[in-house]
Amino acid sequence: MTHYKTTVLSDTGRFGPYGGCYVPEVLWPTMQELAAGFAEAITDDEFLRELAHHRTHFCGRPTPLTYCQRLTEDIGGAKLYIKHEGLNHTGAHKMNHCLGQILLAKRLGKKRIIAETGAGQHGYATATVAAKFGLACTVYMGAKDYARQRPNVYWMERLGAEVVPVQTGDQTLRDAVNAAMQDLITHPADTHYLLGTVCGPHPYPRMNAYFQKVIGEEVRWQLAEYGEGLPNVLTACCGGGSNALGVMYEFLDEPTVELVAVEAGGRGITETATKADHAARFQTGSVGVVEGFKSYFLQSPDGQVKGSHSISAGLDYSGVGPQVAYLYDEQRLQAAYATDDEVLVAYERLARLEGMIGAMESCHGLVEAVKQCAARPAHEVVVCHLSGRGEKDLFITARHFDRENFQKFVTDWSHDQQ
Ligand SMILES: *Cc1c(COP(=O)(O)O)cnc(C)c1O
Repeated sequence: MTHYKTTVLSDTGRFGPYGGCYVPEVLWPTMQELAAGFAEAITDDEFLRELAHHRTHFCGRPTPLTYCQRLTEDIGGAKLYIKHEGLNHTGAHKMNHCLGQILLAKRLGKKRIIAETGAGQHGYATATVAAKFGLACTVYMGAKDYARQRPNVYWMERLGAEVVPVQTGDQTLRDAVNAAMQDLITHPADTHYLLGTVCGPHPYPRMNAYFQKVIGEEVRWQLAEYGEGLPNVLTACCGGGSNALGVMYEFLDEPTVELVAVEAGGRGITETATKADHAARFQTGSVGVVEGFKSYFLQSPDGQVKGSHSISAGLDYSGVGPQVAYLYDEQRLQAAYATDDEVLVAYERLARLEGMIGAMESCHGLVEAVKQCAARPAHEVVVCHLSGRGEKDLFITARHFDRENFQKFVTDWSHDQQ
């Protein structure tokens, strides 16, 4: 019962039957170099001091753990605490693995950073650290995503990154991943591929889980400052799984702490042959090997990866990280899901009662936290990880809460020739 932490950071890159490093042969030496470089860096006090320094002085860590008194009273059950990772620089937990990887890339003598991005959040955090540490940055984005995520493309370009629209395939995230892999194959010596979650080939799941675990380490001492012991349950949204692992890792070997990873329930658990109305991999997915690793994916019976849907771009992904798959099979964490409609209700309730605008992704974890509070006695403690803040979702939430005024604003703006 006390070995999960060791397994999740295993340097074999295998987590039960999941994980691995299924890459084209030409990329094998690059992955080996990265794995060895990472393993060495985290035993070097100098590297760890530098990481800690920038966490404090660039990112703004520690992020607060906030007791939600008004929401707790409104629900009427267990005490709700929110770990507010939205106050991390660039507005989400993504900065944690971007900072770690850029310091590693510099240490390995890389001159250039590449990344894939879907909605643009990972590209935005990557462009930020590339600017800060003076490395060239190219971000690949499916051409469809490039067209519909203009605000994030704008931020990346202001930060000096080159954003490349990828015209192949569905012109979405998967095509961006393929383009980034192709780039790495062409420039293995001077380029670091900065991958954005606990997915992909070894060492990415191990490495990103390591850089994210600071979240749960802070939660432990922050709860103690409130005079609380261990939480009874932790909830977090789960796309690839990096924010969920980041907050849960510290508590994996504490058997009394229940863990719930919340997937995107989208429009409900229904689907067509090629596209699901959700991204609930644990509800309807199956095991496969895709994009270099073995895990659960939404797939058709003949093994083709299916599309997904979520109101939150960050959870709109057909795969899930191998460590999360392992913990699920071991029944160390439970998988739940929240629908788009439930998420919008939780989003507004959090804003009105606690003064926090949560990211659409993060509000999936909140839906579950509210259910957990309601079902538990008043002395128990529920911690919800709010992985990001919600200002980035303006164009999505305004459709639901203020559609007409917002449409007028955008139309007037586009006709304004000043
Ligand atoms: C990208 C993102 C996610 C999803 O990624 P994970 O790897 O599952 O954490 C969740 N929340 C926010 C705010 C994000 O930007």
